[in-house]
Order: sequence, then structure tokens, then C-alpha cells
Amino acid sequence: MKWVGALSVLLSVPAGPIAAAEAARPAVELYRLDCGTIAVKNLGEFSDTYLYSGETKTLVASCYLIRNGEQLLLWDTGLDGDLAGTSKDSDGYVNSLKERIVPQLSRIGLKPDDIDFIGLSHYHFDHIGQAADFPEATLLIGKKDFDVAKVWKPAQARLAPWVSGRSKVRELTGDSDVFGDGKVTVLSLPGHTEGHQALLVRLASGPVLLSGDQYHFADQIKNRGVPAFNTDRAETLASMDRFDRIAENLHAKIIIQHDPADVAKLPIFPQAAR
Ligand SMILES: [Zn+2]
Repeated sequence: MKWVGALSVLLSVPAGPIAAAEAARPAVELYRLDCGTIAVKNLGEFSDTYLYSGETKTLVASCYLIRNGEQLLLWDTGLDGDLAGTSKDSDGYVNSLKERIVPQLSRIGLKPDDIDFIGLSHYHFDHIGQAADFPEATLLIGKKDFDVAKVWKPAQARLAPWVSGRSKVRELTGDSDVFGDGKVTVLSLPGHTEGHQALLVRLASGPVLLSGDQYHFADQIKNRGVPAFNTDRAETLASMDRFDRIAENLHAKIIIQHDPADVAKLPIFPQAAR
């Protein structure tokens, strides 16, 4: 909500040019944030038809800031903040984080309580790690995922402000127009988890689809690889079909959030896609 003021402070130039610059800025901007790296020791888990047995792969954990006018949405919140500056080996994954989200945002003049909404693709650890750094934000989460988060300890702890009832939640049961103007839409795509979601962002340069974990890397689009740990195989395939058709019909740019090459399609922070 304090975006314009923050930008004025950041640029430290007189009000006239600022007003002109603001007027010239597109309403919607998409920033990519670095929210960690995940070295997968057993890629075999990412296909229940034994497609990747014995392979390894390094994925990224990415997060995104979307500005719509003066309103701000953080999409996914990456690995745990206390990992910053370190690596940790757990359950076949080596997780690393260079820097938390909060100091990254400070570089564009934002404080945690400036964030209006946190949208979560789903409740896995690599997407909810730093959510609790933004307790003033309204949480946008699939209702079925929130039901799990309320009782499953790893998610319960990381989403404590909302699970406890202290902070505001929108429990989504289908697609949701975040700002009410059609610019940013949460897409309900169940299968990876019960309430899994992706995000459609309509930039002036064209629509962008942030995948959530509908796919984990680009090969999966043609391979139809369904991770063995997904909650529902049939729902996953149906959601893949819907995701692909939306991308095709809207000529949208697909960003697979765990694929380093896909994330690199977006400008390097603090530059934004517009
Ligand atoms: Zn993930």
C-alpha cells in the first residue's frame, strides 16, 4: 500500500518528475526473487513411471513480487529464512538460501508490512518457508491446502499467523481474481496437492503463467511426468491439460518456478517485467 511513497524515498528526486514517472509506469509489474536452490539427489521421485531413475538435478526455489498499482502480492515464499547463508541436507534434497526475502525487498524500498497479499501455490516447505515474515498480509491459499496446513505440523508452524487465526486468510475453492480487476488471477489446479494453485499475471507485454509445481522443469510438459509424491494422479493430468490450454489460448509466457532456465526468462531483480 505504501509503494508510491517508498519509491519516492528510493529515488530521492523532486515530486514533479516522480509524478510523471509514476504516470508512465505500467500498472502491473512482476519481479522475480531468489528464494533458494534445491539439489535433488533422486530425480526418480519426479516421475511415477520411472522416467528419471538414477538422475539428479538442481532446481531453484523462486518467489515473485507482483505490483498492481499501489497493491502488492508476494507469490510463494521459498525456503526457510533461517537457512540464509547456509545449505542443509534433508530427505534427499540439499537446500541452500543466499538471502531472505525481506532484505531483497528492502532494496526496492519495501518493508514487510507493505505487502498486502501472500499467495501460496501450495503448502510444501519450499513454498511457505518465509511466509511468517509477513504477518500483516492476507493469505491466499487453496481451502483444501489450508485444511492440511491446520493439522500438519511442518506447515502449521510455518503458517502460524494464519493457522492461529491472528492474520487474515482467503481460503480459495476455485479461481480467484486477486485485485478484482482481472489483472492477476489465482488458478485452481489440484493434483500436486489437494488445493494446488498457479498464477496468471496480465502484464502490458503479455500474460505470464507462474506454474506453482504443476511442472518442476520444462521437460515435464512433454513427458507428462507425474511426481510419485503428488496427491492425485488423475487431477494432476487434468490440471496439466488445463494449464497448457490456458497458455496456448492466451499466448502466455510459462515460467516453471523450479526450472532455472525458465526463471531466467524474467529480468534480474531489481528489474521487473512489465
Ligand atoms: Zn516445490
